[in-house]
Order: sequence, then structure tokens, then C-alpha cells
Amino acid sequence: MNVQEFLRGDLNLKDFYNKFYQELEKANKKYNLLVKISKGSGSRKGKLKGLPVSAKDCICVRGLQSAAGSRILEGYKPPFNATVMERVLKEGGNIIGKTQQDEFGFGTFSVNSGFGVPKNPLNSARSCGGSSGGAAGLTAALDLPHIALAESTGGSISCPASFCGVAGLTPTYGLVSRYGLIDYANSLDKIGVMGRGVWDVALMLSIISGKDERDSTSLDRKAQDYTRGLDRGVKGMKIGIPKEYFRGIDSGVEKEVWKGIKRLESLGAKCQKISLPLTKYALSSYYIIATAEASTNLAKFSGMRYGASEPIKGNFNEYFSRVRSKYFGQEAKRRILLGTYARMAGYRDQYYLKAMKVRTLIIQEFRKAFGRFDALVAPTMPCIAPKFKEIERMSPIKQYMMDVLTVAPNLAGIPQLSVPCGSVKGMPVGLHILGDHLQEGKILKVGKALEEGK
Ligand code: GLN
Repeated sequence: MNVQEFLRGDLNLKDFYNKFYQELEKANKKYNLLVKISKGSGSRKGKLKGLPVSAKDCICVRGLQSAAGSRILEGYKPPFNATVMERVLKEGGNIIGKTQQDEFGFGTFSVNSGFGVPKNPLNSARSCGGSSGGAAGLTAALDLPHIALAESTGGSISCPASFCGVAGLTPTYGLVSRYGLIDYANSLDKIGVMGRGVWDVALMLSIISGKDERDSTSLDRKAQDYTRGLDRGVKGMKIGIPKEYFRGIDSGVEKEVWKGIKRLESLGAKCQKISLPLTKYALSSYYIIATAEASTNLAKFSGMRYGASEPIKGNFNEYFSRVRSKYFGQEAKRRILLGTYARMAGYRDQYYLKAMKVRTLIIQEFRKAFGRFDALVAPTMPCIAPKFKEIERMSPIKQYMMDVLTVAPNLAGIPQLSVPCGSVKGMPVGLHILGDHLQEGKILKVGKALEEGK
């Protein structure tokens, strides 16, 4: 049963959820996809009619541990819901649990999670991707109706969607409220959606998007129905293929992505190669901006007001260091050091301000491209989901380099959709569709056409 069938059919929710939770627990035992499971059976109301909805651990759900994958927040049960969760509940969604992620979103493979590493349900020796690894893994593992809410700062929806073979949508920055999201880097964070099909993510975007007074960065937009006109196809659409996004990628992945592009052409899209020369500066500016913002966000976890605390001993600096050393993971510590360095007096102009200037140039470069094209298409990730053994051998820099294709669109705050377009060694390959600000409707149409044309 898919989401559309679930919504259409006459269904006994109690029977459905009996089976659903059995399957969920089975999948979780095997692949460790959720930090917490929440058991309820919802009601047949609203647009979601009791549909199972999972939330990435960094999205606050009232009364349910929301720890952003970090031990420092273990046991934190928010007394409120994030706006997206409020909207899901209002439409009859049933929250089934919190999915595994890299601590605070710091990672590309979900191996930096404080609550165990999720395994890819298509091959458990491989990663689900990150940082929303649990969300993608769960969407792939359950052959039952379910939609996942996830979050991306620099590619954390697209990457795991690609590695697990599901659809993943990262909306325009500001289209979906961040109220109740545990921040990674505020100027980059977006809440988005994963589903087994493009229709599912379009439906959920229609529910969670739109102005929210409680988030000052939320755009003044009314919610719209993104499922309307989804089947219109790509005939006559102009699609740009940025050549920089094909450099240094795995040849098997490249082949599958080209097959996807040919499919779009056969459906009537006009594809043309273009150049986005600033792409090469995106990775370094992203890691400077993201770590700078992360290091300030994490300062509040000092063992006093937020997060874990310990019996007070020593002076403040000693106490604070002891709590942070004990509860932050290694990658969080690395990012605090990197980010603090980049913001330091004397280095700020050289790193942080320069990175911000590069970011503006990247936004302008995309804007120019979208003057000529309806969408851009590229591989989502340079490879298929790596094995855990391979990840262990990668240095931190090597791991950061895996984000080379996803960071530029995230710096620009433009919408992105990853859809499966083929496979290599039995593992899925994702095709990345990028759109201009607020052109979610267009990229969803491209994704749907590709999905149907298979
Ligand atoms: N892998 C990227 C990082 O570690 C992106 C993470 C994200 O989007 N949350 O910063």
C-alpha cells in the first residue's frame, strides 16, 4: 500500500497500526533507524487521515525525546511542537518516532550519531548517508505508507535520499518554518521531506510550508497545493547540465545520471550543458560558514541552562569544559574548534567574511543560470552509498569532500529534489534537480516525469 492508496481507501487504523508497528520494530532492530518510537494510532481526519509521519531527531515533538542525535541533549523532552509538527498533527498525521541522524547534523554518513549508527536497508554493510540517515533508511525499509520529515544544512536530505533510493526534497530557505528545529547553522538550515515517491513529498510540502509568525526568516507565502499539476510533464522545459558537477565522480554514477537526462530529453525537455565556474569555491566557503554558525549555536550547551549537567566542581571554565568534553562527540568538537577559529578577531576577514562574499557570488551565478533554464540537473552524490569499512578509512577532509555537489545549492538557498535514476552494484543512484528560489513546483514536475518515465 502506498500513501495515495492509504489516503483513498476505507481503512481500519487500529488494524493498520498493529501491523505497522510490528514492521517498524522489525526494521529498527535490523537497521537501527529510529532513536525513539512513539506508539499511537491517530484518527482518520484532515488531509493525512492518520498517516505515519516520522521526524528527524532535531525536530521538536512535544513530550518525545528530541536530542538532534546528541548525548548532550539526551532526555530532553520539548514542552512544545515545532511548527511543522503542529501542521502535520492538524492535518491528522500520526507521529511514529524520531529518526537517527549525525550529531546536530554534522556528517554525511550518519556515523557521527550519538545513539548508534543506522544501516542501509538495501545493504547493511553500507551507510544510509547523512545527516538524515535514519529518515531515508526508514522510508526505504518500510514497504508501507509513511512520510519522513528531515532537515538539510548542506545536503543532508539529498545525500541520504540518493543513497537509499527515495525521493528527498529540500525546499527554498524560508519556505518552511524552522521554529522548533534544533539548529545546526541558522542561515542554511531547512526542514524538508522524504518519501517513496515524488507525489508524497509534494503532498507533505503543501502541508508544512507557508508563513509562520514564530520564525522571523519565514517567507511571506501562503501554503499552496504542490500535488496540483504535478503530472504536467517536462515538454518544452529548458534544463541546464552544469559540467562542473560531473568532475571526479564515479563513472558508474555518471552513466546512470546521463541515462536519466536522456529520459528527460525523450519526454520533451531541452537539455543543454552549461558552466558554473564558482562551484569550486562552494565547499570551502560552506564549511567556514557552517562551522562558524555551529560553534556559536553550541555555546549554549555549557552544563548550566541547556542540555546535560554534572555536579558542580571547580571554576566555571573547568566545569564547562568537563561537561562539553564528556557529552559532545568528536565531530562536534572538531567543528567547534574550526568554527571558533574562523570567527576569531584577526582571522574573521580572511575566512568568515570572505566566505560570505563567495556565497553572494554563488547566489548570483545560480540566478543568472535560472534566467535561462527552468531547472538544472546533476548527480546528487559523487558515488553510491559507501561501506562502513570505506568510511573508516576516510579522513575528515575526505568526508567533507563528499558534499561537493550538494553544498553550492544549499549556500544559495535554492530548492533541490533528489530522485532515484538508476543503480550501480545494486545500490541506487540519485539525480539532483535544482530550481530557482520558490520554484518547487517546477522541480517536482521534473522529478515526477522522471519517476513515471522509468
Ligand atoms: N554533510 C554536511 C555537513 O556535515 C551537511 C550536513 C547537513 O546538511 N546537515 O555539514
